[in-house]
Amino acid sequence: MSDFIQLMSQYPWLFIALSFIFAATIGSFLNVVIHRMPVMMKREWQQECNAYLQEYHAAKLNKATLAALEAPIDNYPARYNILVPGSACPKCGTKIKPWQNIPIFGWLMLRGKCGNCQTQISARYPIVEALTGTMVAFLAWHFGPDSRFLLSSLLTFVLIALTFIDLDEMLLPDQLTLPLLWLGLIANLFGVFTDLQSALIGAVAGYLSLWSVFWLFKLLTGKEGMGYGDFKLMAVFGAWLGWQFLPVIILMSSLVGAVVGVFMILARRLTKDKPIPFGPYIAAAGWLTLIYGQQIIDWYLTNML
Ligand SMILES: [Zn+2]
Repeated sequence: MSDFIQLMSQYPWLFIALSFIFAATIGSFLNVVIHRMPVMMKREWQQECNAYLQEYHAAKLNKATLAALEAPIDNYPARYNILVPGSACPKCGTKIKPWQNIPIFGWLMLRGKCGNCQTQISARYPIVEALTGTMVAFLAWHFGPDSRFLLSSLLTFVLIALTFIDLDEMLLPDQLTLPLLWLGLIANLFGVFTDLQSALIGAVAGYLSLWSVFWLFKLLTGKEGMGYGDFKLMAVFGAWLGWQFLPVIILMSSLVGAVVGVFMILARRLTKDKPIPFGPYIAAAGWLTLIYGQQIIDWYLTNML
């Protein structure tokens, strides 16, 4: 193992290239997670609803209600999880061949169409693969082969899944945010990114910062501008980077969120009342702060004060 690390330190470009290829392959798996996790979650909610009503309101349930509670809520097979069934064309059901699963190139060689029925395959698949590869290659260049690289790559994978699930479904699943929170605290038990005290205060302060904005906004306007997933994601960055970096992340995500929001209203892509997911902005701002946080703070302190 130490030989491998030494080799990678001697040939940084080889390390960056290998990181890109490995991460793009993970990106291909992230596409599956992004697509299937919300389907699995909705099925779970249906089961929970069903179980609750059966347990406490069985006498009041008529046949129609029971049928609705047990009817399939989607068109996917009964056995459906992250691994099963294998990827297939949604239209004709043709299985994806292994060579077509090669990140980015599989899609390019198919020219974005199913090899059998010519149905369009979304460009988002190769985009997610290229994005995952590029971000991790950047981390490889920035950190070199060390524990910060390994941990921040893991963080990047989960952030990409969270971002696209939030864009699609306005959800930040606990199954993704909470493990990141624990991982950040454990990493900083060994002082990988910050000291444990800063990390612990960061986790609590990160959660509470958006939690208080949420309640203030709700008390003043009666509306809910964010979700609990957003608080947890901010807690994640507090745990990873320490409380000192929270103001940078909050400012950056709100600024970018506001700019994008105004553009989308101008482009008539959304109306003022339609909620926009905040998770992607927190994820992007947090990721940039992981790399450039100290530079941003130093720049601010020398130029603005
Ligand atoms: Zn097809």
